[in-house]
Amino acid sequence: MNQLVVFALSGALLLTGCDKPQVQHDAPAWTAEGKTMGTFYRVTVADAPPEALVGLKQQISQLLEEDNHELSTYQSDSNLSHFNQYAGTDPQRITTGMAEIISTALRIGVKTEGAMDITVGPLVNLWGFGPDKQPIKMPDQQQIDAARRLVGLRHLTLSENVQGQWLQKDLPNLYVDLSTLGEGYATDHVARLLEKRGVNRYLVSVGGAVITRGVSPTGRPWRVAIQRPTDKEDVAQAIVDLQGHGISTSGSYRNYYELDGKRLSHIIDPATGRPIEHKLVSATVIATTALEADGWDTGLMVLGTQKAKDLALREGLAVYLITKTADGFTTWMSPQFKAFVISQAQVSAS
Ligand code: ADP
Ligand code: MG
Repeated sequence: MNQLVVFALSGALLLTGCDKPQVQHDAPAWTAEGKTMGTFYRVTVADAPPEALVGLKQQISQLLEEDNHELSTYQSDSNLSHFNQYAGTDPQRITTGMAEIISTALRIGVKTEGAMDITVGPLVNLWGFGPDKQPIKMPDQQQIDAARRLVGLRHLTLSENVQGQWLQKDLPNLYVDLSTLGEGYATDHVARLLEKRGVNRYLVSVGGAVITRGVSPTGRPWRVAIQRPTDKEDVAQAIVDLQGHGISTSGSYRNYYELDGKRLSHIIDPATGRPIEHKLVSATVIATTALEADGWDTGLMVLGTQKAKDLALREGLAVYLITKTADGFTTWMSPQFKAFVISQAQVSAS
């Protein structure tokens, strides 16, 4: 549940943890903001023909409600919940939007060798990060093994014919969790709405996913900041100019709880069935869409620093990693990411 604030000093938008967005502009702009998908969204339009803005706030909030109604595992009557509740194995008709998310998820799932796995839901719920309550005692190996038997991308098939797109599970109680991609999907969706209305200077952010186009109200590039991983403070570690791309950050330093003295992250390694424990604390990806970026960031978090670096280099991804060390943290960026960086804070002990 990454959220955002506008970084007051530099005028950058900070990709961060759990505070409400704060508005800070050094030039007038049209904004719309609110809550969706358990997080906050914010739309800033730098300039647009006045007629493009008529009724726009209402349209944005309606669009986000529709996306949520499609993808949420928290709404028992969402399209996704209907698929999850269906206790059969016949192909089910799905919408084009749902097919777009699932095909992205399956492709990234394969590339990350199952580290990003949208069937991880039973494990997410077991560890208390889904609609189910947090456990009061650590799940035991038997419970983990039982949940793991319900997890695996091989159990899910996406297909298409003249009638439309279909999703099929070969286990009746397979449970699909699209939480990790919903923010990116919604971000792109709002951006497409703006484009359709003739708006072409905007910034859209939903949780930890952002997309920008054109220049900011000041006439300079939109600046998006990647947060330094701390529990409390909002400090920028690096600032990028997205040049029309989407960005998403996944971090393990804000969304966690403690049980038996252990910090449990909301990102689960499907290979072990347990919350990730390694030292990679934040993964940021820039891609052509926010959906694509949002899919990769979670997979990279699961893989840990070394494997995430290898994969980024192999796939030519624009990636920024922050890894905890004994006395602070270190950062790494792929060559593709460098092209977007405007400035970077010095790395020192945090
Ligand atoms: P955030 O919610 O902080 O934006 P992510 O985009 O990384 O973070 O999504 C985290 C959510 O993704 C979890 O709350 C959980 O529902 C789901 N999830 C956890 N582990 C995985 C995984 N290995 N693959 C896919 N989804 C996961
Ligand atoms: Mg993600």
